Amino acid sequence: MDDDQVPFDSSRASSPLINVRWIHGTARRDRSGEPAIQVHRVDPHTVILRQSKCLSHEAPFMYLLFGNERAVLFDTGATADPASFPLRATVDDLIVSWLAEHPRARYELLVAHSHGHNDHVAADGQFLDRPSTTIVGRELDDVQRYFGFTAWPEQMVSLDLGGRVLEIIATPGHHRAAITVYDPWSGVLLTGDTVLPGRLYAFDYPAFLESLDRMVELVRHRAVSFVLGCHVEMTSANGQDYPLGARYQPDERPLQMTAAQLLEVRRAARSVADRRGPSRFDDFIIYNEPRLRDQLGLLSRGLLHRVLPQRTNR
Ligand SMILES: [Zn+2]
Repeated sequence: MDDDQVPFDSSRASSPLINVRWIHGTARRDRSGEPAIQVHRVDPHTVILRQSKCLSHEAPFMYLLFGNERAVLFDTGATADPASFPLRATVDDLIVSWLAEHPRARYELLVAHSHGHNDHVAADGQFLDRPSTTIVGRELDDVQRYFGFTAWPEQMVSLDLGGRVLEIIATPGHHRAAITVYDPWSGVLLTGDTVLPGRLYAFDYPAFLESLDRMVELVRHRAVSFVLGCHVEMTSANGQDYPLGARYQPDERPLQMTAAQLLEVRRAARSVADRRGPSRFDDFIIYNEPRLRDQLGLLSRGLLHRVLPQRTNR
């Protein structure tokens, strides 16, 4: 490969920027007026995509990272239908324009997931017939096999995109096959639904605590630009979240968190290890093995919010 075809130089880190106003749904009843997917380039080789709240209240974030030999897409959103949610077409366009600037004969795409919940894998099918594409399955076996985990969850594995080697750790707790990805080049830590500015559903609390320990250990000697999860559910007011199912979040918190906030999540999680159900903190709410009544509470607040649209925000 020619030198001028190599965009990555490990001695030259990127300075990612996330000065962006994310699409956040609409108060309009017909839910029109917002693109299905927002594309934000953090740097020339790192892209964040957000699905519109008009399509799914989950409004998940997805991540596309380019390397010299292949790109990886983490997550495929909450909607399968390419007509309403053209993820494949969007990713194809991004790859075509990246290749126009960095031409090479062969280029692969890997489709993988932060974890296997439905709102992160829904559009996998759009990539099934894509040439030069590998899709990692959503189940624990698939994840372990593809990434080469032989000692889950203690082991760290790497994923080489060509000049850009991601470091991946197992972070079960929210989902048994959840992973966290560190990118040394941009410094971003992709934490899936395990750490985000919203509701942290820890269905297996001991596993969740250990996963937070592994995340903290991972970032201890690494430069972290941003901690990036897959949803925003907190409002800008400390400790206040939007109701479950909210389709309009005009005052949501930034997606990006800091390494200090990750430490705070671990401190908070340890402090409520013996308290089941929800515990509110400024930047997130921990659901320690949510019980039926915790889930019913979320659902009824969400339903009320739909019936009483004038109280949209809180
Ligand atoms: Zn999710």
